[in-house]
Amino acid sequence: MKVSRRNLLQITGVSVVIAGLLPRMAFAARNALRSMRTGVQPGGKTRIVVETSGRPSYTLVYGENTLTIKISNTTKNDSAETKWASGTLVKSVTQAQVGDALNIIAELRKPINEIPKNQIMILEPNGDNDYRLVIDFVAGSNAVKSSTAAANDSSAPATKKHIVVLDAGHGGKDPGCIGKGGTKEKTVVLSVAHKLRSALRDAGFTVYMTRSDDTYLKLADRAAIAEKKKADLFLSIHANANPSRSVKGFSIYTLSEKASDEEAQKLADAENAADKIDVSGFESFSKDIRVALSALQQHAVAEMSEEYANGCARAFNRAGIEQQAGPAVRHAPLAVLRSTVPGALIECGHLSNAAEEKLLKTSSHQDKLVAAIVKSIKNYDFEV
Ligand SMILES: [Zn+2]
Repeated sequence: MKVSRRNLLQITGVSVVIAGLLPRMAFAARNALRSMRTGVQPGGKTRIVVETSGRPSYTLVYGENTLTIKISNTTKNDSAETKWASGTLVKSVTQAQVGDALNIIAELRKPINEIPKNQIMILEPNGDNDYRLVIDFVAGSNAVKSSTAAANDSSAPATKKHIVVLDAGHGGKDPGCIGKGGTKEKTVVLSVAHKLRSALRDAGFTVYMTRSDDTYLKLADRAAIAEKKKADLFLSIHANANPSRSVKGFSIYTLSEKASDEEAQKLADAENAADKIDVSGFESFSKDIRVALSALQQHAVAEMSEEYANGCARAFNRAGIEQQAGPAVRHAPLAVLRSTVPGALIECGHLSNAAEEKLLKTSSHQDKLVAAIVKSIKNYDFEV
């Protein structure tokens, strides 16, 4: 059974009550190891995640070919759930109880440098997860000689602010699709993106926009902004058009070399055509990206994008936003998604459908879309 944080609080509450009835006992609020896992992150980083029932107070100790994570006031747990990914720098992981501290010793394939503070974060409990200590690192040239560093101060939480890059589709000389009533895609999606930016900032995210006004930007430049800002998530916001005016509803796209269906291919052709207005080097750009990314990293980015897209579709469904007939999540060779950043292209609805054109223009419907997207980002597991 997975003890949720709520359960744990209840159990603690019960303990406090019965403590008064029992002979004097020491009730040390010990931290429990819940799970450990490794993964490969974009950029070829190895990630170690240690999940504990309470906020971990940790110290990192660097050995010749080992990284030891010392977590104070925590008990060894040999039945903790573990998940080890292949292709990481971690060869094996063992636990040792040293006094009241738990030592998690990761045997490494290659030496590493001291891990910078911004590569270490503590995530707050969410959904089924308890506190997670997340450590990212790469192989290093000047390995640290057995030293202790990066001890944290549990009173100053090192919670990382995740970075989201929002891309309002089209802009400037490229209006995107245009509804029968004259509504331009570039205008609607910019309005949604602005609302989304303030809602996400309120929710504690760091947000950048590829364009914040009516400017034309090449697709590759949009993807490059996500790279430059070291985004954790990239969202391209669009509205759709279909030759059949009865077609309506949202759909969400992730990047793949092959389209998942004919409609997805048509959509990729239409969205990628934005760059044909201006001759761009996206063919060569995508080749560069392909060279820069190993197959394993590409796989990691694709999996994270897929996970986000599925969660986003669920949030839209729950909010009662109409879904386009067929699968909610589709795949297409979309130029704007070609980067090392996980992400998706959201088609909010159809401007070619008269009823949806009207709806997409209203502030209340835009707010509904924004609330669903914020929910999907809050629920998205930014690690492994
Ligand atoms: Zn579009």
